[in-house]
Parts: sequence; C-alpha cells; structure tokens
Amino acid sequence: MDLLGLDYDSLLEMDLYGEAAFRKKQLFQWFHEKGVDYDQMHSLPKALRQRLAEDYPLPALTLEKVFTSQLDDTQKLLYLLADGSLIEVVLMKYSYGWTICLPSQVGCAMGCNFCASTLGGLVRNLTRSEMLRLYYLSRKRVGEIQRVVLMGSGEPLDNYDEVLGFIKLLTDPRGRNLSARHITLSTCGLVPEIQRLSKENIPLTLALSLHAPNDDIRTRIMPIAQRYPIEDVLEALKEYRERTGRRVSIEYTLISGTNDHVEHARELAERLRGMDFHVNLIPLNPVEERKHETSIPEDVHRFKKVLEDYGINVTIRRELGSDISGSCGQLRNRYKSLEKRSVE
Ligand code: SF4
Repeated sequence: MDLLGLDYDSLLEMDLYGEAAFRKKQLFQWFHEKGVDYDQMHSLPKALRQRLAEDYPLPALTLEKVFTSQLDDTQKLLYLLADGSLIEVVLMKYSYGWTICLPSQVGCAMGCNFCASTLGGLVRNLTRSEMLRLYYLSRKRVGEIQRVVLMGSGEPLDNYDEVLGFIKLLTDPRGRNLSARHITLSTCGLVPEIQRLSKENIPLTLALSLHAPNDDIRTRIMPIAQRYPIEDVLEALKEYRERTGRRVSIEYTLISGTNDHVEHARELAERLRGMDFHVNLIPLNPVEERKHETSIPEDVHRFKKVLEDYGINVTIRRELGSDISGSCGQLRNRYKSLEKRSVE
C-alpha cells in the first residue's frame, strides 16, 4: 500500500499496527508538512519507523544530476525513478520566491510536434506519491517552494486521479497547506476533464496550451485538436472561470512562420476578445529533433502589440535557465542520449 498517497481520513481510519490516532496524525504531519523520510521522523519510536520503512517504503527517487544556470538561479534536477525512468524538475526563482515545475507523466501521449517530452510517447503515469516526493526532495535544495506549475512532461489531465490526489494532499491544511491559488495546471485542452475539474471546487489556476489561432493550424501542431475544436475548449475554459472565479491563462508558443504572423495575432485576438483570459506568449525553445524554429524578437513584439490593441492582457514569458536545455523533456532526452553514447 502507498501510505504517503493516503489522504488524512484514510490514514486515520487505517489499522496501522494498532497505533493510536495521534501517531497517525504525527505521521501525516511528517509526510506532508515536513516532507521527510522515515528515519527523520523523530517524534515516532525508532521501532515503528523501521517497521514502516520495511512495510511501506516511500517511492525511490534518486537525484541523478543537477544543472545550474549561469544566467539566473534556475536549477534543473534530473531524477531517476525506481523503474529506471528519468524525469526532470525545474526550480525557478522569482521575486516572491521559488516555483517548481513538475511533471505528471513519464513522457506524454499527446504528440504535440514542437515538444521534446512526447518524442518517445507515454511511458507511464506518475503516482501522487512520486509527485509529492519530487516536490519535497527538491524543496530541500531551496528552503521553501511557494508555487507549483504542472507544466513538465505529460498532460496532467490525462493522469487525472493521481494529479488531483497530489494537489489535494499538497493543499491539505493539516499538511503542507499550500494554497491552491499557488498551483497552475497546464493542459493541452482535454474538454471532459476540464469540465470535471471545474466541479472539484479547487481554486487552481488553469493554463491552456492553445498555440494556434484556428483549428487548421492547431491540428497541424497538436493532434489533440482533432478531438476537441478550439470553440469547445474555450467554452470549457469559460465554464471553469465562471464556476471557480479563478484566472485562466492561455499559453501561446510562437513558432516562426507557423503561428506568429500578424493575421494570426488578429485571429487569436478576435477569438479571445471579451473573455478576460491572460495570454502568455512563449518564444519556442527549439527541439533538436523537430524542424520548428523560434520567432524572431520583432515578430514576438509585433504579435504582442496586436493583442494589446484589442485590449487583451498579454505578457511575454521571461525565459529562465535557457542555457541548461530550456523546454520540458529536453534535458531528459539529452541526458539519455549522452548516457547512451558513453555506453556505446
Ligand atoms: S506540450 Fe505538453 S501535452 Fe503537448 S506533448 Fe508536450 S508535454 Fe504533452
């Protein structure tokens, strides 16, 4: 059984060697407030800690490699999971503190053709416990982490139950008690899951990876667009916003010649006008294995100006850690191929 992944009530209801409720409360606190391994749970008797470690081992995660940016404080951490999967996590420093970018899956099934994470398809879902361990182990490097963005490899809503379980544990007031408002979940637009999420009553920030002003272009770069047209996705976002009162942002990666022309900006602005969404423009971080190129700065600023002229709230995402294999999945892929070369 996965003890770390149990919610508070389930842990308390569980018969844990006949231990009293207060011991189980302590255990929950150690798991989710302190985020430590059994051997550091000093208020628990040593014999109990040893038994727990034997019967309920925590997901094994080894920090394989750390890449530190020379340009800013960004750290990219490469972890090895128990099954040999490699997964990357990014720590970014902002004026308010640290943000962690977490993955939700090993690889990704969505096949966006500008993305490195999907090159090998989906390997498997991460468990809520693995995501929690990634958060807590990474936190040790920087003291505290104020915000979480689920924008690493994988489509979070394709791993709905584990991701929601992770979020509920991280926001539990008896544990880490992170505000749900400090968590951003990024999706490529799975409409039924967005609708389901809007009924969960968790005030997350939702980010839609839109990346195109129309279905024609979107289908060319994101296969998911064949299943859910833009109109349906935006409708689901509006519903999410109305139900939760939370901000929704639109992520738009600018790919030279594909989606960065002035007419694309106008078409996007027409679609989004009056919807009160925030648009994040992201100059593409090119992936070696793909043909796409990033937009030149003049095109990025021209695109932004068009949206502004339509009264749309828009920012250009500041690129952090660009010297250490920028976008998600690149680090893992590069490391894997380096390893392969050193073995050959
Ligand atoms: S952009 Fe996101 S959803 Fe698309 S393939 Fe990459 S990880 Fe998956």
